[in-house]
Amino acid sequence: MTSELYPAGRLGQVRDAVRSAGLDAVLLTPGPDLRYVTGYDATQLERLTCLVVPAQGGAALFVPRLELAAAQASPVSGSGLELIAWQETEDPFGMVARRLGQVTAVGLSDRMWAMSALRFRDALPGTRLELAGPVLRPLRITKTAAEVTALREAGAAIDRVHAQVPGWLRPGLSERAVGVRVSEAILAEGHASVDFVIVASGPNAASPHHEVSDRVLAAGDVVVVDIGGTMPSGYCSDSTRTYAIGEPPAEFTGYYTVLQDAQQAACDAVRPGAPAESVDAAARDPITRAGYGDAFFHRTGHGIGLESHEDPYIVAGNGEPLRPGMAFSVEPGIYPGPHGARIEDIVVVTEDGYQRLNQAPRDLVVTG
Ligand code: ZN
Ligand code: ZN
Ligand code: ZN
Repeated sequence: MTSELYPAGRLGQVRDAVRSAGLDAVLLTPGPDLRYVTGYDATQLERLTCLVVPAQGGAALFVPRLELAAAQASPVSGSGLELIAWQETEDPFGMVARRLGQVTAVGLSDRMWAMSALRFRDALPGTRLELAGPVLRPLRITKTAAEVTALREAGAAIDRVHAQVPGWLRPGLSERAVGVRVSEAILAEGHASVDFVIVASGPNAASPHHEVSDRVLAAGDVVVVDIGGTMPSGYCSDSTRTYAIGEPPAEFTGYYTVLQDAQQAACDAVRPGAPAESVDAAARDPITRAGYGDAFFHRTGHGIGLESHEDPYIVAGNGEPLRPGMAFSVEPGIYPGPHGARIEDIVVVTEDGYQRLNQAPRDLVVTG
């Protein structure tokens, strides 16, 4: 399983990508790029862990001596990757620089801490430092069959959480109390970590990135629940459903139908060759025609994989053609206040269309 998800051949693909980007090497510290290349889920700390992938020659993973056992227990062992443990009194930045030798341009992982990036700047005087993201992006943006399977498992896990949400949306409970139950369920349903929990009730439903507050749920509330986590595989879930506690306001019922149709239309626009922005337009046009254009003020979606927000972004101006294996959210919302709604599914582009990875019902769930 792990070797399918993080195949040993990936290191060679990255080396080729480094070469065609005209870089001498990429330096990847803990984060999604390092995990993508090696399967190693290392923690970013002040002690340097860094994968060096040069355009020519062998790659090496520098690890603090006290994390050597953890690295050896990860998929890194058996991959043939050289492991170099540095001792507490050594300078790992200097060690990496000596390993690189004379280099002109090096890519640093996008999520490298500034404290490491600036140490590399000092250790590599005269070397041009760039982002490694553009090197990894073409590889990460389309998912392998194993990655799609991992995303499907994540989607099923978050669907099982949504199935329990109606039971928690009762008048008298605070958003925070509901959020605690949601977090527990995200873990109980198989995620390794909780990434975010949005329980936005009443007027808070009109704020797309509201998290939780002490607001107490009341009859007549609309509640936007947007939740996600990371599975032990490393792959993320992200799904939104909108619920109503008892009878929702009449205006809400009207635009919820518009939103449902817009989300469906956007999914139906997903096919190989279609520009990413056409999916955004397919969601936005019916919402604008219904008079709610100003109340839909975020992009329609974002890619998902080892990060819950990554390329491709489903937004006007992104003409990149969709390709089989791309996975992203389709999540239009309407937020006129004093309530709002969003529906979010993860979809994957197939050879002739798309597949949804979330199956929870999209009809308004009325509880209470
Ligand atoms: Zn968001
Ligand atoms: Zn979401
Ligand atoms: Zn999302």
